[in-house]
Amino acid sequence: MSQQLVVMKFGGSSVANPERMGNVARRIIEKKRAGDKCVVVVSAMGDTTDDLIELSQKINPDPRAREMDLLMSAGEQISSALLAMAIQAEGEKASAFFAPQLGIRTDSTHTKARILDIDGTRLKKELENGSIAVCAGFQGLNAENDITTLGRGGSDTTAVALAVALNADVCEVYTDVDGIYTADPRVVPDARKIDRVYFDEMLELASLGAKVMMNRSIEVAKKYNVTLHVRSSLNGNVGSLIIKEDEDTMMERPIVRAVAADKDQARITAIDLPDVPGVAGRLFGSLAEANINVDMIVQSSSEMEIGKNDISFTVSSTDLKRTVERMKSIIRELGGGNVVFGDDVAKVSIVGVGMRSHAGVAAKMFQSLADAKINIEMISTSEIKVSCIINRAQADEAVRRIHASFELGQPAAAVA
Ligand code: ADP
Ligand code: ASP
Ligand code: MG
Repeated sequence: MSQQLVVMKFGGSSVANPERMGNVARRIIEKKRAGDKCVVVVSAMGDTTDDLIELSQKINPDPRAREMDLLMSAGEQISSALLAMAIQAEGEKASAFFAPQLGIRTDSTHTKARILDIDGTRLKKELENGSIAVCAGFQGLNAENDITTLGRGGSDTTAVALAVALNADVCEVYTDVDGIYTADPRVVPDARKIDRVYFDEMLELASLGAKVMMNRSIEVAKKYNVTLHVRSSLNGNVGSLIIKEDEDTMMERPIVRAVAADKDQARITAIDLPDVPGVAGRLFGSLAEANINVDMIVQSSSEMEIGKNDISFTVSSTDLKRTVERMKSIIRELGGGNVVFGDDVAKVSIVGVGMRSHAGVAAKMFQSLADAKINIEMISTSEIKVSCIINRAQADEAVRRIHASFELGQPAAAVA
């Protein structure tokens, strides 16, 4: 008997209907009967979360975040109860839990809450009793005992955080693809499965639009060194391991590991701002106060007036309306300027730790976009990534071109 403590997370498509729920239940039972203790984290069934959001919009286009959290968390409450029932139907002991029973404490940033602490006492007791614990992902409780949610895709974070709190031996993330690919396999047909990917690379990829894992889950996994195994819920294939960089010095280190695209981007430009100290601080300080994450920032001298600046930046499309409102009021305070914005851009990025030691990678990416007649509006780089803002309608084509240009469909060439 293997006797490991395993956290198994199943995403929405893996439990989308009763048949899949039954398959997942049998998969969990197999592990339990092999001698493991199983803590299961489950997402809402199929598109439930999107459906709940759409429903709320029909009732109130600008709902309070506190009630949004209560509403959205219902999806996982349903799936956890049903999955426990599916396991019970197969003759195994299982108990379902939702936020108030899980001991997951978060801050109060509704719809984007961060986990502060987990009291695993109840779950440990359940495991001692030989039961399978089925936990609702994506949710927690704040200091007022209000339900919070962790941000879209947040069940991944629940799974990793529980793996840390319970000191699990393994954290397995079951999804509808059989691992991490060199690009979204729905966009690039010849994308290749990656056997191992480093935390830093996965963190970048997830933050840059590869929604296969939520970025915050990787942050937690990296911090506590939890190896993740991303695999398919539909077959038994070995998936991809997400690991610490120095754990495998022999592995291939391709210059570019993967390409990602984020279509949830909007561009804002403040034109003719006074060119005096403190302007950027005021502007971005105010956005930070409103919890708006600003991504790329480019400042340039105004084309129209001497002594004035233009500042362009990107935010996620969901924050566009709030950002524009804030910008208008700050510009009024600063005594000048104008705001223009567009919700028609995407960010395409390449990621790889091998880039650290290689020049010319960015130029190759820019050239492949140029060859496809795709205009680059903004650029940002770090040690291990290059990102370009382009027209959203060209995002898929850009990903395919870049993927082909770096030959990511071929087995990777190692880099020293
Ligand atoms: P789940 O419901 O299991 O959480 P998600 O829909 O959140 O699943 O994530 C899985 C999806 O992520 C895949 O269906 C795939 O289209 C997409 N994806 C994007 N980029 C990648 C990538 N680099 N590798 C694998 N999948 C990716
Ligand atoms: N159900 C939530 C979402 O759709 C959380 C998750 O799936 O991880 O974002
Ligand atoms: Mg997901």
